[in-house]
Amino acid sequence: MARLSQQRRELIYSLFLVIFIPLCLIGGALWLTSQVKLNYDQELRRKANLANEVFGVSVAGALTSNTTDPAAVLLQSLIDATRRQAPEIDQLTVTIGRGSELQVLASSDTSLVRQADTTIQSQLAYSKQNAIASLIASGEGNDREWLVATPILSPSGSVLAVSTMRVSLAAADQAMNAALMSSFIVLTVILLAVIALLLHHFRFVEYAELFRKQKELDQMKDDFISVATHELKAPMSIIKGYISMAQEETDLPKINEMLTIAFNQTDRLNHLVTDLLDVSRLEQGRTKYSVEKVDLAVVIKPMLAVFKMKAEAKQLTLDYQAPTSLPDVAADPNRVSEVFTNLIDNAIKYSRTGAVTITHAFDATTVTTTVADTGIGMTPDEQSRLFQRFYRARNDDTADIEGTGLGLWIIHQYIDHMNGSIRLESEKGVGSKFIVVLPRAN
Ligand code: ADP
Repeated sequence: MARLSQQRRELIYSLFLVIFIPLCLIGGALWLTSQVKLNYDQELRRKANLANEVFGVSVAGALTSNTTDPAAVLLQSLIDATRRQAPEIDQLTVTIGRGSELQVLASSDTSLVRQADTTIQSQLAYSKQNAIASLIASGEGNDREWLVATPILSPSGSVLAVSTMRVSLAAADQAMNAALMSSFIVLTVILLAVIALLLHHFRFVEYAELFRKQKELDQMKDDFISVATHELKAPMSIIKGYISMAQEETDLPKINEMLTIAFNQTDRLNHLVTDLLDVSRLEQGRTKYSVEKVDLAVVIKPMLAVFKMKAEAKQLTLDYQAPTSLPDVAADPNRVSEVFTNLIDNAIKYSRTGAVTITHAFDATTVTTTVADTGIGMTPDEQSRLFQRFYRARNDDTADIEGTGLGLWIIHQYIDHMNGSIRLESEKGVGSKFIVVLPRAN
């Protein structure tokens, strides 16, 4: 469980990196360019204001001069000269008040001359005596322009005229777009590099997981070797001890008793060696299955006689009621026998009180057999690793119980090969239920 949540945390962290880093890069780039653009716009506006004010001084001079030329002619030549020097000025217009309306006195666009000036900026600049600047879209395309309307005051402070200047931002926008484009190319390259790095990170997480699993398997193998050595040594010492005692004994019934104990220990040895052979056969794919119609009751009933004594010795009840009409399963009878021998043996081995109960259920396609016990049970972490080779739960409850951690792995392989399934429901301290589902025979 703890390992699962750690893996989930690593995955969430990696996903967070994949989303967060590119979002930061894109957000940062967008924020930076919008700031640069804003500053750039403000700077151009300041310059347009300044230029209009400087131009306004000349206009004021032309409007109050005593030359023979009319003011309009003087202003027109002034406008032409200014535009020649600053081509980014799209339009330059001087407007004066005529009665209640404003009229264009001179303009770079000669079609406007003597026309009424109805632009809101000029009207406001005239009435409020304040410079007005606004960002507008020029008639063609998406070009933007600063429109600056500046009131021109006489020395006495009255408004003589309004000069309106339209400064194009096209060149600036073009340069900005080119810069934006190059920064997006750089950003894309950085993003690709970041994604490549993150993929690498994912692979590292994968390798770390593989390494952890390998270490765990090594640890389990080490544990197994010490368990197997102990499992081999213990019965051999007992056999050796009782045989040597029997050699010196003259009383026949006592000799018989000693030999029986020695004989029983060979069973334990036999069990271990069989498990080891089964594992090596399974690993090399040499296990043979001969699938036929099997009546599970016929397989299980004879086992009960053997397990009865073992259960009674621990004061456990062994309960099996085979239904009268249990359908046959399609399976290998020997493998099925090994499956239930192992499950019933474990149920007795890992229980201290209560009962071991075997029940069946079936539907149109399967027969389900449940081996339930009221034993020590397992934690969710133990359950998740139960069918691994060599795995044995290590806790106070299992410390004195002998075993190799191979049985469940072996039977899991058998059941898989017979197109069946095995699952577990268990609660620590309450008990376990092993549920085996096998296909019905036709
Ligand atoms: P062994 O019993 O030889 O150790 P198994 O592969 O049969 O090996 O079982 C693996 C582990 O699963 C056991 O060591 C034990 O911790 C746990 N286990 C199996 N069956 C039960 C059960 N009925 N109740 C509690 N724990 C069990």
